[in-house]
Amino acid sequence: MNFGGFVPISTVDWRGRAVCTVFFRGCPVRCSYCHNRSIQEGEDFRDIAAVQEMIRSSKLLVSGVVFSGGEPTMQPEPLIALMAASREMGFAVGLQTNGIFPKVLRRLVEGHLVDRIALDVKARWERYDSLLKEKYTHAVQESLAFCQEAVAGGALAECEVVVTLFRGYEDEAPHIARAAGNLDLVLQQGVEGMVPPLSAAELKKVGDRLKRPVKVRTREEGEVLHCG
Ligand code: SF4
Repeated sequence: MNFGGFVPISTVDWRGRAVCTVFFRGCPVRCSYCHNRSIQEGEDFRDIAAVQEMIRSSKLLVSGVVFSGGEPTMQPEPLIALMAASREMGFAVGLQTNGIFPKVLRRLVEGHLVDRIALDVKARWERYDSLLKEKYTHAVQESLAFCQEAVAGGALAECEVVVTLFRGYEDEAPHIARAAGNLDLVLQQGVEGMVPPLSAAELKKVGDRLKRPVKVRTREEGEVLHCG
């Protein structure tokens, strides 16, 4: 796999569970605010067996593995192999994805390889392609619809829609919340350049407008469930 990094223990990637996190290198989206810009591109190829050993070495510390990036679904074969190995080792399996490869998501869920998906939805659909400078709207819509169906049908235990919200773009949230439907919704503090990030209180105010429970994720408070 094109390897982006490994964190042996994380308590922030899966609320309520200690996990290890495997980062896949490479993401075609290239968001300017990406918190992992150093692994958006480049090459560091590692044997799957070596990465499996990293995961195995965390066994005493954690109960789950989260695959993140970069974009893990861009490398479906290594991802599938590592998820299957993680399952065999007895770990719960999570995925963080931007949803631009819906067919891979389908393979993972239909193969019973993943318990939890955190799906980024970055903007209202009308703004999506111009924001990402590529035509990804239909792919992300397909991923979202598939996750909704998979959760409703019991094929996927958990899925949350993650919205990274920047000051000045608060009005995007109601559109994304409508699209998210019954999936869990996370409002996450976007941080970029000199623009001050929305505070936890400001994000909660945005949450109030949505008239539904939201998870508010900030640097100052971590993740809190806000019910308006
Ligand atoms: S989609 Fe995610 S991983 Fe890819 S560049 Fe954007 S923030 Fe970074």
